[in-house]
Amino acid sequence: MQVITTCAEMTALCRETPRPLGLVPTMGALHEGHLSLTQQARADNATMAASIFVNPTQFGANEDFSTYPRSMERDLELLSAQGTDLVFAPLPDEVYPDGFDTWIEPGAVAEGMEGAARPGHFRGVATVVAKLFTITWPDRAYFGQKDGQQVAVIRKMNADLNLGVDVVTMPTIREPDGLALSSRNAYLTPEQRAAAPVVYRALRAAESLWHTGERNANRLQAAALAVLQAEPQISAVDYVSIVDAATMAPLNVLDERPAMIATAARLGSVRLIDNVVLL
Ligand code: AMP
Repeated sequence: MQVITTCAEMTALCRETPRPLGLVPTMGALHEGHLSLTQQARADNATMAASIFVNPTQFGANEDFSTYPRSMERDLELLSAQGTDLVFAPLPDEVYPDGFDTWIEPGAVAEGMEGAARPGHFRGVATVVAKLFTITWPDRAYFGQKDGQQVAVIRKMNADLNLGVDVVTMPTIREPDGLALSSRNAYLTPEQRAAAPVVYRALRAAESLWHTGERNANRLQAAALAVLQAEPQISAVDYVSIVDAATMAPLNVLDERPAMIATAARLGSVRLIDNVVLL
């Protein structure tokens, strides 16, 4: 496994490496969710590359960029054990040198939910993923359904800009009690951790109602919200949204198109997101 810190060296290695090349972008602090992506990428491709980059431009001014968990040594051990060929781990100045001033601005797909709650977030995500794509030109890139709107933003960018990458979405990996794995789960106090599975339970309540034939988005939303609001550790619900799973457009009535029910909820200062696709 080679660890590369400069864009130029990463591009040079990716040009000569056996194809297909699969890329797994991450911000490190790796867990089983990330490893499900690297496992699939390893199985699908002659070369498997992962990136570890805590991308400053996708964090808001009052967000957790400086305190985001970092564990490079352990991450490299895990990636090595996964059979990773190339790890791209640049410093922020390498990706955003002085004077950097060109951005990818996603449109309507990034307006609601995380886009509304975190202004500028998807501009940062789209810009860094575009750069990772053009630095490495992967045949395939792997993303988790856990960040459902992020997947939609990246798919749209990939299509709109003709980047030609095969974007592969992998299912959300969960703890046995249903909590979606996330690097941010490490911030939870024991009391918050015990309560946190309520986020998935709320989504499942809406899903169960949908399975009984309910197609009214307000009623599905209310079912999820009621579960969240019954948990005292939930200090705020940023949103419970029901959207078209591809475009992220809000739905009033669900039809045959795949829909996604997504939520962001706070337990004290910790903000958790999760979603379920209704197929
Ligand atoms: P991050 O390091 O949080 O930027 O995540 C890197 C990639 O791993 C993204 O594509 C995430 O959607 C994916 N990911 C994070 N958590 C999970 C999970 N619990 N299950 C599946 N994929 C995940």
